[in-house]
Amino acid sequence: MNKQIILLPGDGIGKEIMESAKYVLNTVASEFGHRFTFHSHAIGGDAIDQYGTPLPDDTINACEQADAILLGAVGGKKWEALPGNIRPEQGLLGIRKKLGLFANLRPIQGFAPLLHASPLKEEVVNGSDILIIRELTGGLYFGKPSERIKNGKAVVDTLYYERSEMERIVEKAFESARLRRKHLTSVDKANVLESSRLWREVVNEKSKEYPDVTVEHMLVDAGAMKLITAPTQFDVIVTENLFGDILSDEASVLTGSLGMLPSASIRSDGVGLYEPVHGSAPDIAGKGIANPLGMILSAALMLRHSLQMEEEANEIEEAVRACLEQGYHTADLSVKNGKQVGTKEMTEAVVENI
Ligand code: ATP
Ligand code: MG
Repeated sequence: MNKQIILLPGDGIGKEIMESAKYVLNTVASEFGHRFTFHSHAIGGDAIDQYGTPLPDDTINACEQADAILLGAVGGKKWEALPGNIRPEQGLLGIRKKLGLFANLRPIQGFAPLLHASPLKEEVVNGSDILIIRELTGGLYFGKPSERIKNGKAVVDTLYYERSEMERIVEKAFESARLRRKHLTSVDKANVLESSRLWREVVNEKSKEYPDVTVEHMLVDAGAMKLITAPTQFDVIVTENLFGDILSDEASVLTGSLGMLPSASIRSDGVGLYEPVHGSAPDIAGKGIANPLGMILSAALMLRHSLQMEEEANEIEEAVRACLEQGYHTADLSVKNGKQVGTKEMTEAVVENI
C-alpha cells in the first residue's frame, strides 16, 4: 500500500525523535512491501519563527489531504511571551479542531524492565495494559455559557453533549475493545449527572451491536481508585472529556515511564494525529539523548488505527519490548544492568529487532 504521511516535527526534541519514527516506518515498509510517502510541515514555535503563526494554512491543507499525521512536540521558553498572546500550543489545538479529531487514545502498557521505577509496587502494576479513550471535543470544556455572573459573585460552566457525540466515541471504544481483550469499562458519574445517565444509555444501547465485548459501568471516583489498586483489571476505558483528562494523566504515571507513552487523536473515518505524550523537552534538545520510543510507539498506533496495519504495528511494539529486554535504554529510563544509549543507537536497536 502507498500511504501519504504528514510529518509535523515541531519544536525541541520533536525533530530528533521524528527522524527515529521515519527510520522505523521505512524499515517496516520494506519488510512488509508498503510505500510511505512523507511530507514535513511546520507547526508550533517552528512555524511562528518561519511564518509568524503556529498553524500556517499550508500545514492545514497538507493535513487535510493526509492518510495520517505524525507530530513530534510543540512549545518552549523561546515562545512564552510573544505579542498578541501567540503560543506554539495553539498550533496543536488548532489542527485537532480543524480536522474534527474527537477521540483521544492513550495506551498505557507496562514494560517489565522499567516497572521498578513505577510509584506502585511492581506486583500491582505488572501486566497492566490499558487503553484510555477520552472524548475530546465536547463536555464542560466547551459548553456555553462559561462565565462569571452576578457581578462576579457567582460562576457558571456548562456541561453540554449531543447524543451523537456520545455515540461516535462509544462506538470507537467498542471497535477498539474488539481489537484487544474485549472488555470495556465505561466511566461516568451517573449517580449525580444527567449527562452521565444519557452516556450510560448510549453505552448500553451500543453494546447490543457488540455482543462479544463485555461492558462494565464504573463511577469516576471508584475508577480513579481502581486504577491505582488494581490496574490490571482494565482493558479499554471510555469516558467523557473532563474525566478522561484526569484519568489519563493519572494512568500515565502507573508504569513509571512517561517518555514511553504514545497517543492518538482520531475521527470516525480513521484519519488521525499521533504524538508522544511527553513535551518538547527543551532542556535536552539537540543533545542526541532524547528517548525516541514514545514517538516510535506513536507511529505504531498510527499503523493500527489509521492505516489498518495491525501486524505491522505489533511488529514495532514487539521490537521496542525486545530492545528494553536486551537492556537498551536512554538516560531518562533506568534498566537494571542495562546499556545506556543515545537517540540514534536506541532507534538502531529497534530497527535491528524488526
Ligand atoms: P509540555 O508543556 O510541552 O508538555 P513539560 O513541561 O510537560 O512540557 P516535557 O517536555 O514533557 O515537559 O519534559 C519534562 C521533563 O521530561 C524534562 O526534563 C524533559 O527533559 C524530560 N523528557 C520529556 N520527554 C523526554 C524524552 N522523550 N526523552 C528524554 N527525556 C524526556
Ligand atoms: Mg506536559
